[in-house]
Amino acid sequence: MDPIEKQCIEKGMRMTDQRRVVARVLSQAHDHPDVEELYHRAAAVDPNISLATVYRTVRLFEEAGVVERHDFGDGRSRYEQAGDDHHDHLINIKTGQVVEFFDKDIEIMKEALAQKLGYKLVGHKLELYGVPLEEEK
Ligand SMILES: [Zn+2]
Repeated sequence: MDPIEKQCIEKGMRMTDQRRVVARVLSQAHDHPDVEELYHRAAAVDPNISLATVYRTVRLFEEAGVVERHDFGDGRSRYEQAGDDHHDHLINIKTGQVVEFFDKDIEIMKEALAQKLGYKLVGHKLELYGVPLEEEK
């Protein structure tokens, strides 16, 4: 069973065949697809699936905390599996490509900064926007 479907079941969600397809497509995606892209991938598995179903299903997954929604500044909601592997994102604003990264020093700095402001950090999100260096000339 794929990890998203497993989490859904653990949360008591009723899994239909189409929800299972969306769960599988999301589990296999590592590129933060939007709903349209998820729909294309899901439709390749089940041609009867509709965009509305995919949309409702990801919202349901999001509400259950099984997937995470991102807005990388282009007005599109993008999705990825929610998990323990915290990472940040760098977005290529020319292509929309999303690069995941994890930097221990930045994580420590976030904690320290929150503490300096009198807070205990309970959540954080960092997005960098850039263009590839070699294309900047
Ligand atoms: Zn990510």
